Amino acid sequence: MGTHRRRTRLDAVLLRLAEREGATIARGRVSAVAALGGGVVVQLTGGRSIEGAFVADATGRAAAVSRRLGARRLFAERLVATRESWPRMMEDRLFVEGSADDWRYSLFGPGGRADAWRISRPSRLRRGPGLAVDASPSRLDAFAGERWLAIGDASVAFDPIASQGLGHAMAGAMTAAGKLLGSCRMSGEDRDAFALLNLQTWATHRRDDVGRGHSSGTLSEASPARASAVR
Ligand SMILES: Cc1cc2nc3c(=O)[nH]c(=O)nc-3n(C[C@H](O)[C@H](O)[C@H](O)COP(=O)(O)OP(=O)(O)OC[C@H]3O[C@@H](n4cnc5c(N)ncnc54)[C@H](O)[C@@H]3O)c2cc1C
Repeated sequence: MGTHRRRTRLDAVLLRLAEREGATIARGRVSAVAALGGGVVVQLTGGRSIEGAFVADATGRAAAVSRRLGARRLFAERLVATRESWPRMMEDRLFVEGSADDWRYSLFGPGGRADAWRISRPSRLRRGPGLAVDASPSRLDAFAGERWLAIGDASVAFDPIASQGLGHAMAGAMTAAGKLLGSCRMSGEDRDAFALLNLQTWATHRRDDVGRGHSSGTLSEASPARASAVR
């Protein structure tokens, strides 16, 4: 099912390709953002700042740019993914198991690396030594302004069981590339169309989530009420 990619290698390849096409790479974390005249200034940790006509926020669930420009994150529910060692991880293909309290999966990735994750509500979380990351289905209340847009998890993030994250990130990246290479401006019409794209993607995820909960019993509090928690 699907392909498995080593993230660090993928990121390195993408950076190299961007540099080859003329991009200037500035390393650092976004610490402040401000609209300035007709553009945007992004402050990075370490003191460097970048001024530009347009900014694409690809900072994942942190939405570090969009939130500093006024967007708010809305959560349908809170979920946490914890990495664990799972004794049943003997399958050489994706293995998924669900219960009313959580769901978990294991697979062998590139180079035979074994990965196992449990996704559960924070209230059910058994604290362990493993890495824990946010896995909540959530979205922004605004996906773009005149001089910015949010893509990938920054705009809409899913329960990982949906396997929608990477496809959504790629779709948003194409819109962002078009803007960065083109007018560097989101007209009201552009913003409406981009919002529709994101809201439809979100609606699909929420409907799938309810169906999955009902049919498999996984995280089984799924109900139409839960689906409409954030529309
Ligand atoms: C356990 C788990 C399993 C998953 N499995 C799948 C799957 O099978 N299929 C699928 O399609 N999706 C899956 N996903 C979702 C997928 O990982 C995400 O949708 C995808 O990584 C989103 O890409 P992104 O580039 O938008 O965000 P990220 O991958 O989160 O990248 C954001 C980047 O921004 C950086 N950043 C954050 N804050 C700042 C800041 N202030 N300044 C500068 N940089 C910052 C981060 O360090 C990171 O490098 C899974 C997620 C989890 C948690």
